Amino acid sequence: MDLCLNNGNLIYRSGTQQARVLTESWVSQNLYCPRCGNLNINKFPNNKPVADFYCPVCSNQFELKSKNGSLGKKVNDGAYEKMIERITSNENPDFLFMSYSKSELVVKDLILVPKHFFVPELIEKRKPLADTARRAGWVGCNILLEKIPQQGRVEIITNGIIINRNDVISKVNIGQKLEVKELNTRGWMMDILNCVNKIDDNIFSLNQVYGFEKELRIKHPKNNNIKPKIRQQLQFLRDKGLIEFLGEGMYRKKQL
Ligand SMILES: [Zn+2]
Repeated sequence: MDLCLNNGNLIYRSGTQQARVLTESWVSQNLYCPRCGNLNINKFPNNKPVADFYCPVCSNQFELKSKNGSLGKKVNDGAYEKMIERITSNENPDFLFMSYSKSELVVKDLILVPKHFFVPELIEKRKPLADTARRAGWVGCNILLEKIPQQGRVEIITNGIIINRNDVISKVNIGQKLEVKELNTRGWMMDILNCVNKIDDNIFSLNQVYGFEKELRIKHPKNNNIKPKIRQQLQFLRDKGLIEFLGEGMYRKKQL
């Protein structure tokens, strides 16, 4: 894998288009399939708006979002309504988030967020464009990367360092166990996962997770059964092999 963005044929005038050509050709030339490990993923023809890339072996689809500088807490994306529609229809591709340096023409960071880690809460509505804008009233969105649990952020390149391919694929596979089709359940799973991730110790108690009750109540004001919900999701994480029940309200992190 070569981190340089090929500067060979910059024939596009607009900066955005230029960046798109550079980053997309980088992915075509350098990236393996982070799901099955196939040595390359292919670009869809431009008139196919479904996603940007697909794996010729496992058929998984990928969409690339890239930005100059660092990835930060959020990444700009297209129309808000369209994004929510895609997430709720379960037709999302996996997302690849890339940051690059425009001046050095190198890739800095690349993370994969598998589709089943997307919930509407990750999508922030932006202010409608002003009346003076060409597309007045158009509403875009931001993807809130900071809200994605670490299990759903698979690092492929971090700060210019290429992560071992087998480690990437095994992390994708662990995360795959957390696939939940139903959106509300998926949201709860991610919330409880985020809580467990915030506990530093490997061994933790049910009471420590109950400590997040207030925070969860604000997110789910209509739910009066926060504690049972917490226990249910811990059971889910146990069934998936991510945590272990030690008895007497104690748990151990296994693959977290
Ligand atoms: Zn594949």
